[in-house]
Amino acid sequence: MSHPTPTPHGFPQAIAPRAWWQRWWSSQSSHRQDRFAMLAPLAAVLLFLAAIVAAFGYLRLEEVEREQEAVKRDLEYAQQRLRLRLLERQEQLMRLARDISNKEMDPEEFMARAEALVVQYPELQAITWIDASRRIIASQVTPSLAAGNPWVAGEKLKPGDTETTFGLARDLLQPVYSQPAASTPTMPLLQLHTPLTEQGHFAGVILGEYSIDNLLRYAVPTEISAKYAVTLLDSRDNVLAGRAIPERQNSMGFLPWATHVNEDEVPVSPVGNGLILRAQAWRTSLGVVGSGLFWLVCALSAMTAWMLIANWRHTRRRMHTQNALVAETTFRRAMENSMLTGMRALDMQGRITYVNPAFCQMTGWSEAELVGRTAPFPYWPEEDHPILHARLQEELSGKIPPAGVQFRVKRKDGSLFDARLYVSPLIDALGKQSGWMTSMTDITEPNRIREQLSASYERFTTVLEALDASVSVAPLGSEELLFANKLYRLWFGTQATGHLQLVEQAGMPEQRLSDDGLDDVDGLAGLPTGTLTTARPENAEIYVAQLGKWLEVRSRYLNWVDGRLAQMVIATDITPRREAEELSAAQAERAHSASRLITMGEMASSVAHELNQPLTAINNYCSGMVTRIKDKKITDEDLLGALEKTSRQAQRAGQIIQRIRSFVKRSEPNRTLSDVPGMVAEAVELAEIEFRRRNVRLTYHIAARLPELRVDPILIEQVLVNLMKNAAESIDTAARPSARRNVELRVLPKIEEGLRAVEFSVTDTGQGLAPEVMERLFEAFFSTKAEGMGIGLNLCRSIVESHHGRMQARNLYNGQEVVGCCFSFWIPVTDSPQIDAFKDSGVTA
Ligand code: ADP
Repeated sequence: MSHPTPTPHGFPQAIAPRAWWQRWWSSQSSHRQDRFAMLAPLAAVLLFLAAIVAAFGYLRLEEVEREQEAVKRDLEYAQQRLRLRLLERQEQLMRLARDISNKEMDPEEFMARAEALVVQYPELQAITWIDASRRIIASQVTPSLAAGNPWVAGEKLKPGDTETTFGLARDLLQPVYSQPAASTPTMPLLQLHTPLTEQGHFAGVILGEYSIDNLLRYAVPTEISAKYAVTLLDSRDNVLAGRAIPERQNSMGFLPWATHVNEDEVPVSPVGNGLILRAQAWRTSLGVVGSGLFWLVCALSAMTAWMLIANWRHTRRRMHTQNALVAETTFRRAMENSMLTGMRALDMQGRITYVNPAFCQMTGWSEAELVGRTAPFPYWPEEDHPILHARLQEELSGKIPPAGVQFRVKRKDGSLFDARLYVSPLIDALGKQSGWMTSMTDITEPNRIREQLSASYERFTTVLEALDASVSVAPLGSEELLFANKLYRLWFGTQATGHLQLVEQAGMPEQRLSDDGLDDVDGLAGLPTGTLTTARPENAEIYVAQLGKWLEVRSRYLNWVDGRLAQMVIATDITPRREAEELSAAQAERAHSASRLITMGEMASSVAHELNQPLTAINNYCSGMVTRIKDKKITDEDLLGALEKTSRQAQRAGQIIQRIRSFVKRSEPNRTLSDVPGMVAEAVELAEIEFRRRNVRLTYHIAARLPELRVDPILIEQVLVNLMKNAAESIDTAARPSARRNVELRVLPKIEEGLRAVEFSVTDTGQGLAPEVMERLFEAFFSTKAEGMGIGLNLCRSIVESHHGRMQARNLYNGQEVVGCCFSFWIPVTDSPQIDAFKDSGVTA
């Protein structure tokens, strides 16, 4: 046996294990607990209702049983009385019958005794003496029945009249009761046939007839007929006498014990099953009070159940609301805790009522150390106390500006940081101000960033200032100067005039943006839609007389910091570069002239040969004329003719000299609109000198209606002469037979790189280009010739490229054999914008 362990104080320690149901309860989820808590009272109410129903049912059954017993008892008593009365009457009739059988009575005496009986006993209606042959000997009838009396003395009973009972009495020699039936139209009567015997033989009957009604009225005690509806029924349950209670319409028919009608029946014993006595209680104790109570309990239970359910629903709604509230609170708490801004609430007296974790983290003081404190707060640096007191007063009177105030905060470890404070009134649920909510942000970092920014700005401006380019930014359509670096200020001062001048001179007028068609302008922002996005930095080189400098001007559009569209102009001093370029251009020109001189030098023997002819001719004419003048054999006419011929030869010589002179003359580059056939003719005339000497044929084809080219004709002629000279030399070197000593020059219109152009090609039948020669063809000073300079083709290419054209060379083949080569170049037609029109002219590339 175990005893509770005594504690040191002597009390038994109550370590009773928790009851199983407690454990079970706590193991349930709160949701289930709620459910049980709601279901338990409901179940209790239903149980209570069930118990009430059962109790009612039980009591009711008891009562019914008791009533039933009472009915049975009463009915038994009534039946007893009825039986007694019938037996008494039977006794009297039997005595009458015995006297008749003993011949101690004649009909008169019978009548007298029968009358006495009929008068004395109201239930006896008639007493009739019938002999064995069913003849009526005498009949005494109660006066009320006398009028319709069927029993007339001397008459025989009609067949069928009580024949069965009569027969039965005769056979049994015992008194026999008839079986009354309610169906007879007259008042039903109960008959008693008492047989008469004569020396042991049947000698008729004494027929006693009872009124069943009277029998009921006088035989049943009044206390019973007062309590019950007492009726006499025939064997088929038809009412013979008495008043039956009609079938009760029971309002509680659905209750098991309510179906019963408090009644009972018994057969009346001497008559047997032919006569049944029934008693129906006038009032069954289907107590109004009982059922009322029952219904009340039912209604109350239903109401309680309904209220429980309603209450449960209400609780559930409240639970939902509560859950939502908890979630909301948790969310707010989480938000508050995760916030990086310190929050502090002050009551109206300046006492701290709340601080959030961020505030504690910022200051290093815990919540317990802060809440409840009044000024001076622990995070106030001592030296700032006076100012901070004043600030707190401002704060409490709501005078802190919405933009907040900045102040220094001391951490618990003594270090300081800058913070910004914003204050807003704290309004409680009733709309009353209960204090002030202050939010605090550590602005050390923003301050540091600002310092960094300003440092980087400084660096940036230092770089821009030191730049040897002038940088200026001005908004579009305004005279305002947004930015100008040192060089700009040095050159143009602090006004925007310089910027605008640069923009204008460089041909990038900003006005273009606003003056142009509205189509280009986005109606909303007023900014040009296409131009800006596709705008690339524009470049222009301009001479600014006021500075005496060449400037390269670049501009680009940008969104200024305030969102305005601005134009930035960067101008670089390019005067030294410009001068160098001019110098190199002059040198190139000199190189071109030199090259022409070289070409001529190379062609010197041909030129000498060409000049020799007219000079020889002149010499011949002159000698001839001198001889003939000496001999005086010449007429004036002959002399004139000879002089004219001489003069023509001299002119020809002069022309040759003139052409060579103009070719080699050093001239400034001069691009003019030049006629292509003219240029070609000049070049061909020069080249033909070489061709004649080398015995080479030149054929040329120039397309009709070629456009004019904006070129320097002397340079193009130089290229053509060079190519033709090389061609002739190549044919000579290849030592072709005279049938194959041809050079062909073709000039055709063409489309090259999407541009209209004129293509010149020189095709020869010479030795062609070896692969290694092809590689180095355009290199300066590359030559395969013993006396060649090797700068011809190099210059040709640079001339063509300076005219924005291209030059190329390729070999011509006959099967595997190289049969010559073709040099070609094209020059674009710059002045004619319409390629289509060019095509339409009928000339195709
Ligand atoms: P040069 O004529 O003084 O040698 P070029 O620059 O005119 O200098 O020519 C360079 C070289 O290209 C020549 O030496 C020659 O070998 C080759 N060449 C030029 N034209 C032709 C041509 N039509 N056929 C074959 N080779 C050529």
